Amino acid sequence: MINQDTQVHQGTGLEDVETRIEESARKSARDAQSVTLIAVSKTFDAGAIRPVLSAGHRVFGENRVQEAQKKWLGLKEEFSGVELHLIGPLQSNKVRDAVALFDVIHTIDRPKIARAISQEIKKTGKRLGHKLRLFVQVNTGEEPQKAGVMPGDLEDFLDLCRNELELPIIGLMCIPPIDEESAVHFAFLAKRAQELGLKGLSMGMSSDFETAIEFGASHIRVGSAIFGQRKKRN
Ligand SMILES: *Cc1c(COP(=O)(O)O)cnc(C)c1O
Repeated sequence: MINQDTQVHQGTGLEDVETRIEESARKSARDAQSVTLIAVSKTFDAGAIRPVLSAGHRVFGENRVQEAQKKWLGLKEEFSGVELHLIGPLQSNKVRDAVALFDVIHTIDRPKIARAISQEIKKTGKRLGHKLRLFVQVNTGEEPQKAGVMPGDLEDFLDLCRNELELPIIGLMCIPPIDEESAVHFAFLAKRAQELGLKGLSMGMSSDFETAIEFGASHIRVGSAIFGQRKKRN
């Protein structure tokens, strides 16, 4: 009998991606350990994720709160030490669930969400011993349809997050426009982060994570290069 799991999911791209991270880190005279690889498992089911967990990887990214709950409540019981990152947009009515499930949220981009998270942390954070960390998403390409704070509003927004709401903001995140050079956007994000005293830089996907490492990425978000091509949906 053929085990369906092993039949469909023989091997993953994890090792190859790790090798490429090491090579680009070496080229930029960086320590590969300073780059956190977020394996983006959105749209893939537990059967596809298990081999990556079994290979020892523990940091994963999802873009939908409900989908993540379904998969990860079980997987977190099977495998210890999992760290989950939310890399997709967050709605106010999902804030409670998101704060409960995720360790890091990369998509803080408007006052309403910042305030809702602040309230939720105050309500539950200390009691749960939750060490939530947050990135502010910046719309570096100033694309109307894309999430993220406009670059011109970044400083005020950060001021609100850090000083008034006392949120644990650790860095900036961006998704460059698909038809432009990523490097320009990565350089811009890195410069702003430095000016604003933030160490975290969440940038780079399957197609451009090596460039992102060159420009100082602390977190890269890699999906298809590890799990293979996704079926439709983003
Ligand atoms: C899906 C997604 C990724 C991963 O994309 P790949 O091209 O599959 O590596 C990274 N970041 C965000 C915000 C995503 O939604």
